[in-house]
This record gives sequence, structure tokens and C-alpha cells, in this order.
Amino acid sequence: MRIDILSVVPQLLESPLNHSIIKRAKEKGLVEIFIHDIREYGKGNYRQVDDYNYGGDAGMVLMIEPVYNLMNDLKKEREYDEIIYMSPDGELLNQQVSNTLSCLDNIMILCGHYKGIDHRIREHLITREISIGDYVLSGGEIAAAVVCDSIVRLLPGAISDETSALSDSFQDNLLSPPVYTRPAEFNGWRVPEVLLSGNPKLISQWQEEKALERTRLLRPNLLENSGK
Ligand code: SAH
Repeated sequence: MRIDILSVVPQLLESPLNHSIIKRAKEKGLVEIFIHDIREYGKGNYRQVDDYNYGGDAGMVLMIEPVYNLMNDLKKEREYDEIIYMSPDGELLNQQVSNTLSCLDNIMILCGHYKGIDHRIREHLITREISIGDYVLSGGEIAAAVVCDSIVRLLPGAISDETSALSDSFQDNLLSPPVYTRPAEFNGWRVPEVLLSGNPKLISQWQEEKALERTRLLRPNLLENSGK
């Protein structure tokens, strides 16, 4: 899979995309992530990429020309399955969206900044808009990093079997059961006995029960359409 991210503050993406699981997935050749500086396509000595908002409202707007030219250069090289714009008014990111995106070959992610981006970019160049929640960030970079992280960990081989993404929360519309590690007792607080029993059948039964119990308690909405 290949992900191209377009940003005016590419530095914001360096650390989140270069450590831990994403780093290992890159090293294993499961994903390539390229970060592009929109400013390199800006005009003049100042590499201008933003301009005043038509209508006079406060806040600068990301211009269409540099974004269009950068996208065009990328599109000459390959076909993109989705060209995503990170936006607070987009479709809410959830595990299903991440699952779908993780099956694609090439995606582009545009990060907005300032007041937003010239709306013509959204009308003519973007194929999908994604929000990471009902709040406003200063830029799309951290949101794009969230999307990348949630996708990359789903790529087969990105995480080992023991930590299989399939047993994580939201797969199968269930939250994850609680997990514990050694010591079996700390401060008088014991790990549930069943986990020490060594009986795989009892353990998986307990895990299913706990997953269901936690989902009912914390996120009953997940169960509504799942028939559980
Ligand atoms: N004026 C815009 C917000 C601009 S915030 C509005 O009210 O809708 C600047 C940029 O941050 C946006 O262009 C978008 O790319 C990003 N952003 C902000 N909040 C986000 C969110 N919840 N999810 C995804 N991207 C977000």
C-alpha cells in the first residue's frame, strides 16, 4: 500500500509516522508513506500557499493552484483509489472506514490548515472527506496521522499474531475484554482466576463475556445493529 500525504506543515507528521508499528510496517515493505510539502508548489519567493478569504471573514485559506499542481504530478505517476481531505465536517472515522481504506493500494490524504481550503478543491479533486471527531484542530496533520496509524496496523503482517488487530475493540462491534500481565497479584489486587487456569476454552468464554459486558455498559450503541 502507498499513502501520499499533502501538507503545509510536513514536520508535524515526521514523528508519528516514523516509530513503532508504522516504522516496522514500512521496514517490512507493507506500506510506503510519502509526505509532500505543498509549499514547494507555492508561488514566488515566499512560496505563497494561502490567501485571504473571499468575503472578508477572518482567517487565511489554502489556495487551489499549488494543491492542484502537486496532485497532478502525483496522479501522473499512478492511479489513486481515494483522494481524502481531512475535515471536521467529513464522515466520522471508525473501524469500518479504516478496514475499508486498509484494502486499497494508493491513497492520497490532503491536510488543510488555517481557515480551511478553497472549496473548489473539495468539489473537484477530493473523493472522500474524513473527520476524526466533532472538534476543530489547527491542521489536518494530526488527523491524517490518526488515519494512517489505524490503517497501517490492519495490514496483514503489520502486527504479530499475539496482538492481532482482529481482537481489538470495534472489530465485530465489540469492545476489547480487559487484559492483564504479571504479577498475578499486586497490592492484594488479583488477576481474574480464570486467566491463570490454563484452560483456553474457559478463557475465551470469559473474554467473550467480558467484551459483551463492557460493550453493553460503555457503548450499547455498538450492539444495536449487530444482532448480539
Ligand atoms: N474552518 C474550518 C476548520 C479549519 S481547521 C471549519 O470550521 O470547518 C484547519 C484544518 O484542520 C482543516 O482544514 C482540516 O484539514 C483540519 N481539521 C480540523 N479539525 C479536524 C477534524 N476534526 N478532523 C479532521 N481534520 C480536521
